[in-house]
This record gives sequence, structure tokens and C-alpha cells, in this order.
Amino acid sequence: MSAQKKYNIKLSFVIPCYNEEGNVPLMYEAIETALAGKGYRDRVELVFINDGSKDGTRAALRRIHAEKQDRLHIKVVDFSRNFGKEAALYAGLSNAVGEYVTIIDADLQQRPETALEMVDFLDEHPEYDCVAAFQQKRHEGKVLTFFKDCFYKVINRLTDITFVQGASDFRTMRRCVVDSILSMKEYFRFSKGIFSWVGYETYYMPYEAQARATGTTKWSFKKLFKYAISGIVSFTTAPLRFATISGVLASFLALVYLVIVLIQKLAFGIDIPGYATLVVLILFIGGIQLLMLGILGEYLSMIYVEGKHRPIYVAREVLGYEEEGQDADGAYLQSRHATEEEKNGNP
Ligand code: UDP
Ligand code: MG
Repeated sequence: MSAQKKYNIKLSFVIPCYNEEGNVPLMYEAIETALAGKGYRDRVELVFINDGSKDGTRAALRRIHAEKQDRLHIKVVDFSRNFGKEAALYAGLSNAVGEYVTIIDADLQQRPETALEMVDFLDEHPEYDCVAAFQQKRHEGKVLTFFKDCFYKVINRLTDITFVQGASDFRTMRRCVVDSILSMKEYFRFSKGIFSWVGYETYYMPYEAQARATGTTKWSFKKLFKYAISGIVSFTTAPLRFATISGVLASFLALVYLVIVLIQKLAFGIDIPGYATLVVLILFIGGIQLLMLGILGEYLSMIYVEGKHRPIYVAREVLGYEEEGQDADGAYLQSRHATEEEKNGNP
């Protein structure tokens, strides 16, 4: 029997955590508070992924798993090292069994209440399969906003799928969407692209990101730039076409110039003093060739790594509730509502 059926989970929260020791207990509390009064409170699970944190996140998550099991279903996937948020999301989605799955950051920038609004929306609108939070106001510097604008313009022009600027990973999906995402096994996971690629009707729900509860963002400009390049390379081969087109164009121009030079020389006897032109041309063509090699290299390196078929993540420990040996439907839930004495007698 599948775990989803077994525990009849309605909503799974997937929470990637990297150096969030201060935030995970707050996140747990925030979700529990948000769920108060919800009829499906007992059918919610939390899937935390510790993405190789270097602080006390692992201990904090184990504590939550040990102490809060009787309040909410809790799973913890503990990575053997830092594999990045994309890998953490894949691990979280693989372990989530809910009918709906919400991806939410651990830093409380996104409110669990919004996630529950998404659930209500999906309940009321069967025509939609996914609700993505959409950030209207951005609290970012002008330079970063400019580069992000450029990125979205470029990637939307180059690819067949639509990337919505301001849409975050914070979203709630139906099971069918989650399964489609999991069927994409690529090693380089660019979630923004994967979410668009799988399709389905997505509703964009406006929200305002809060300030981080504690800690700092893991994104530096360098990391964002690398992420942008890998996103483009993952979802379009247009740069390769650009290489071909500029090659054809350069050859054509060279041919035209050759004809001009020949005519000048043969018909009019003009000597062509060409040192400066030559240097400029050599540098220009050399530069273009290196750029093209670089583009080829980007794709080649991606093929190289994909070709190894390495696992997307390595987990050293998975704390769940499957192994607790509950066999009948709902048995686990009943045990969670046991009185203190019963629980002591039946750990
Ligand atoms: N995160 C992760 N692995 C990483 C980097 C980040 O799991 O290598 C998690 C992080 O703990 C947080 C979420 O991804 O829950 C978003 O990260 P962050 O807050 O740094 O990004 P921002 O909100 O600034 O875009
Ligand atoms: Mg954040």
C-alpha cells in the first residue's frame, strides 16, 4: 500500500534547509500555528531536507523529529554534503506522499498561511493543477533587478517555454504535477525551467516575501550568474545555433571582402595596406572562435556530467514514519492522538 493511501496525507510541505538552525524550529511552529483549526491538520506532513548544513541544523531537525512526531507527520532527509537547493527539492518531492505538495523555504520569508490559501484555491478550482507564489514588490538592488530583467528577456526569447519573472519556487502542486517533475531525472536541475516544462495550468498568486527570520541568503551574485547560465544551457540549444549563424555570417563577409580586394588589386592595381585591418580582424575572429568554443564547452560539460548518471543526491539518513510498523490505515494517526500514558506504554 502506498504511504499516501496509508496515511492519507493531504498536504506535504517540502522544506529545503541549508544552515538554518535558528529557523527550523520557528518554521515548525509557524506551520503548526497556521494549521490550527484546519480540518486536514492531521493529514499534513513536513519533509525537511538538511542540505549538508555546517551549523546545528541536523541536530535541530532530529530534535523536531523526535519531539513533534505526535503532533505532525515529520520526515527528515539528511544529505551527506551540500548538494544545492535543486537537489534538496528533488529529494523532498521524492519523499513527499501528499495529494498536494508545497515547496517552501525554511527562512520564513514565505508564510505557511499563504500555502494553505493555495490549498484552498486548488480545492475550489479543479481546473488548476498548481499555484505559484508571485512576488509583486521586490526588495532588491537596482543592479540585481536589471540583471534579472535581462535574464528573463533572454531565456524567454530563446526557449519555447515561458518563464514568469517574480514567480518563486514557493508553490503548491497536485500529485500529477509532482510525479511529472520527478519523472525528469536530469542531474542539472533548474527548477524554474522544470516547473514550466511540465506544463499544467498554473495560477499565479501574488504575495509579499518577508524578511529572513535569521541567517543570511545563500545567493551571491557569482552563484546567481552561474545558475542563470546553467538554466539557459539546460533549456535551450539556441546558443549553439548562434554559433553556427555567426560562423556562416563571418565566412560570407570574408568572401565578399576577398572579392573586393581581388577586384581592387587586379582591375585597379591598388595596393592594400592592411596591417591594422589584419590585426583587428585576427583578434575579432579569434575572439568569436573562443566564444563559440566556450559555448560548445558549456554543453559538452553538461553532457559529460549527465553521462555519468550520478545520483542527484546522497542521503546519509532518512528519518520517517514508514518504518514504525503501522499496518492498518490510520493506525499511525490514532497513535498520534494517544494520551500521554498510552504513548509511554507504546512508544
Ligand atoms: N538552500 C538549500 N541549499 C542550498 C542553498 C539554500 O537547501 O545550497 C535553502 C535555504 O536553506 C532556504 C532556501 O533554500 O530554505 C532558499 O535559500 P535562500 O533563503 O538563501 O534564498 P533566497 O530566499 O535569498 O532566494
Ligand atoms: Mg530566503
